[in-house]
Amino acid sequence: MLPEKTAVKSLSGLGGWGRFPVTDVEAVRPEKARDLSPVGGQCIPRGLGRAYGDAAVLTGGTVVMTERLNRFLEFDPQTGVLRAEAGVSLRDVLRYLVPQGWFLPVTPGTKNCTLGGCFAADVHGKNHHRDGTFSRHVYGIELVLANGERVRCGPDDRPDLFWATAGGMGLTGIVSELTLQLTPVESAYMMVRHTRSPDLDRTFELLTDPKYDARYTVAWIDCLAKGPRLGRGVFMAGEHAKKSEVSLRNDPLVLPEKRVKPFPFDLPGWALNPLTVKTFNRVYDAFQGRKGEFVCDYDKYFYPLDGIEGWNRMYGKRGFVQYQYVLPTAGAFEGTRTILEELSAAGRASFLAVLKRFGPQGPGMLSFPTEGLTLALDIPMADGLMNFLERMDQTVSKHGGRLYLAKDSRMKPDVFRAGYPRIDEFCAVRSAVDPGGRFDSDLARRIGLCR
Ligand SMILES: Cc1cc2nc3c(=O)[nH]c(=O)nc-3n(C[C@H](O)[C@H](O)[C@H](O)COP(=O)(O)OP(=O)(O)OC[C@H]3O[C@@H](n4cnc5c(N)ncnc54)[C@H](O)[C@@H]3O)c2cc1C
Repeated sequence: MLPEKTAVKSLSGLGGWGRFPVTDVEAVRPEKARDLSPVGGQCIPRGLGRAYGDAAVLTGGTVVMTERLNRFLEFDPQTGVLRAEAGVSLRDVLRYLVPQGWFLPVTPGTKNCTLGGCFAADVHGKNHHRDGTFSRHVYGIELVLANGERVRCGPDDRPDLFWATAGGMGLTGIVSELTLQLTPVESAYMMVRHTRSPDLDRTFELLTDPKYDARYTVAWIDCLAKGPRLGRGVFMAGEHAKKSEVSLRNDPLVLPEKRVKPFPFDLPGWALNPLTVKTFNRVYDAFQGRKGEFVCDYDKYFYPLDGIEGWNRMYGKRGFVQYQYVLPTAGAFEGTRTILEELSAAGRASFLAVLKRFGPQGPGMLSFPTEGLTLALDIPMADGLMNFLERMDQTVSKHGGRLYLAKDSRMKPDVFRAGYPRIDEFCAVRSAVDPGGRFDSDLARRIGLCR
């Protein structure tokens, strides 16, 4: 019997951050970790719903919302080791622990997601080439299995279960708590260097030549640029600023409170078109490219989009698709050039086109990053988009690449299988702990995972 506050509710039109696809589900929202259990016939855990597609929904099943399980359980200010419930948001970790001199070891481009969601997607950040994925900094987790049993695992304790769950998209069980190593910082600020790149060769050079390296690196690309300017953009490198590098009267570990502005309405579908994106790209390139070296706070550096609440409404009611691939080093330059040529020739506009170099593959069985180049694009939903993306998928597969499950909303089973060679190993662990397939999601059904 579920406690009263955990009662099942019907939710209609639930999806991911891309607002495509959406579906109707039953949902429970436990208040206490002890109330956490698999419910209904089949279910899927959900954090703050920042995966873009259908990873955290299950048509005809139950979604287990974990956002109320947001308690800090233990923190050692000497070592930076944090034990917390899985529903704690990155926002709360930063709010309480940056002032004590500790930062997240790996962070995605939003702080509006949960520790459990970050472990389940094994997220990467701008420092992947140096620090790997999120799970590399996790000492252990507690997992609620399909039969309701609670087990602990870590890199040295039931490692198969741990590495199937890191990047396993909620399909091995519900992470109820985790123990994480934070990273020490002297300030809440970043030393940033922006370098303009006129073309793709130079962008590749900036991303890969050790001479330009920093802890955090990424390049924004103007994906509408063509011909000799194909792949032009701005290379952005950052380090945590030392105390001596920020001249402030206030405590350098504390940021002033900021107001988040809401995006007021759904823009009509025609508002985002190649012309508006071209104009945006010109202004962005001029503004960001001119900046050179500067200091800015971690919020502006890592989470510029979090400053506008509900920015996904900019893409209108039809939503948008995030398309993120990684290509292994051998075919990374050639494949990325082909994809950018296809994009600019088709005039498929993406405001956010971010190119990044990944370091070596980690041990997570379904973990996305592998050594090479990754490109992330936001493309508004439009007629013909699905056919266009299927052609891009072929280019990705031809170069030995894969698509990111946390961003995906449309990949077909053959593309998934080709990109994730450890799938059988993952399915063996999953069927040992969940023989009846109690944990499931629309994503897993669509890509034919373990079927
Ligand atoms: C603006 C923006 C920028 C982003 N930038 C990046 C980036 O730079 N790098 C990157 O890697 N990702 C990035 N992402 C994706 C995001 O970090 C991941 O999708 C992350 O999983 C979201 O966490 P969440 O708590 O919202 O999880 P949800 O979206 O709710 O769920 C994601 C997956 O985790 C599972 N899950 C959630 N909680 C649990 C739990 N307690 N136990 C087991 N499974 C669970 C769900 O079943 C689902 O499969 C970005 C997303 C946005 C919106």
